[in-house]
Amino acid sequence: MLKKGLRELPSVDEVLRSDNLRKCAGLYSISLVTEIVRDTIKKMRKEITDGHTVDTSAENIEALVYNYLEEMLKPSLKKVINASGVVLHTNLGRALLCDEAIEAIKVSAGHTVNLELNLEEGERGERDGHLEDILCRLTGAEAATIVNNNAAALFLTLNTLAEAKEVIISRGELVEIGGSFRIPEVIQKSGCKLIEVGTTNRTHSSDYTSAINPDTALLLKAHTSNYRIIGFTSNVDLKEVVKIGMQHSIPVVEDLGSGSLVDLSQFGLPCEPQVRESIEAGADVVTFSGDKLLGGPQAGIIVGKQEYIRRINKNPLKRALRVDKLTIAAMEATLKLYLKPDTLSRKLPTLRFLTRPVPEITLVAEEASRLLKQRLGKGYFVEIENGESKIGSGSLPEEVIATKIVSITHKQIPLKKIFDMFLKNNPPILGRVHKGKFLLDMRMIEKAEDAVVK
Ligand SMILES: *Cc1c(COP(=O)(O)O)cnc(C)c1O
Repeated sequence: MLKKGLRELPSVDEVLRSDNLRKCAGLYSISLVTEIVRDTIKKMRKEITDGHTVDTSAENIEALVYNYLEEMLKPSLKKVINASGVVLHTNLGRALLCDEAIEAIKVSAGHTVNLELNLEEGERGERDGHLEDILCRLTGAEAATIVNNNAAALFLTLNTLAEAKEVIISRGELVEIGGSFRIPEVIQKSGCKLIEVGTTNRTHSSDYTSAINPDTALLLKAHTSNYRIIGFTSNVDLKEVVKIGMQHSIPVVEDLGSGSLVDLSQFGLPCEPQVRESIEAGADVVTFSGDKLLGGPQAGIIVGKQEYIRRINKNPLKRALRVDKLTIAAMEATLKLYLKPDTLSRKLPTLRFLTRPVPEITLVAEEASRLLKQRLGKGYFVEIENGESKIGSGSLPEEVIATKIVSITHKQIPLKKIFDMFLKNNPPILGRVHKGKFLLDMRMIEKAEDAVVK
């Protein structure tokens, strides 16, 4: 029954007296139920004042309160089907973990573990100790440590090695990564003075040498992971910067962004710089992400010369940026996959999806297209097309990988509506609108039904 007017609104107490809500109050706390009843009535009052017609019946208010409580109990973080064409999608949580990492997380989550306990000596141990040896083996570095993410890794490194001093970086490398990470701001916030050298498109060795003075504490190289400067360009490579650093006894740090632990060209993928190459080129410290191409949990890994890593670990900020046992467990399991190169591309989901053969993607696309035609019915055009997937997270920005896409259009229904229909599915399916079509990339779809709206 629709009633108008504020007079019709029941009081909070009246609503709370209803049998149904009394039952609710038995399940949830009475103060929570009261609060939601109050909020619901307040919202109705506003709607009435704004001139809307509102159903103020006790039944309706009860139903609204009940639904609100039910929704509140559902997890906010849900599984989402990634048909976006971006494999390492930052908004979708980047890398999927391997089975071994998921198992390791379960053990660490449900049990007390030797996180900082040396089981041999029966003494206090180092939490990073679980990872240092394997990180050194995989990168050729002398020492390693781990923090919350690569932004934290760079921040901590700069703060340790160059606080209140000058950091020299080429103008062409002042990167901004999505989600508010900007190299110049990180340099400033870490307490260092940013000294930009060269120009956007060209930087020479002499630009570095002429900027060096007694206040210079560090030379920084940043991998321009999400853009390329092309045309009339010149860049001083890491080896050359290392030479300059050695001449002036100034450490060289490289922010590799994604950084790979293996040569990706062996899998037919475009080349991304390897951490080992930077260490071999003489970088004193290299930082990179755990959840980009490495394919592990969110983390920032710092590898390099023992002396610098020791100082980084002693910085009190390290304590604020350290990782938890779940990250260490997942990272250890992920890194161990790299010790068996033959099974790596099968076991590491990131690599498995990036190297998935097109014929296999085509099979899924054909089945999904058949199911979607059935499901969507008349008026929809469903087709299979050749497409391009992206690696994502700023890795290999220019490079795309051939894939198969299911495209959907409708004569009358706008693309945004189709996009929303897939996103409102349970579980949500994230596609994209591109050049007048709604597209579903099948690269990350394991079962065709997953890409079909219910
Ligand atoms: C992605 C990226 C970062 C930030 O790494 P997070 O792990 O997301 O904190 C920093 N620098 C570069 C060059 C990057 O590509």
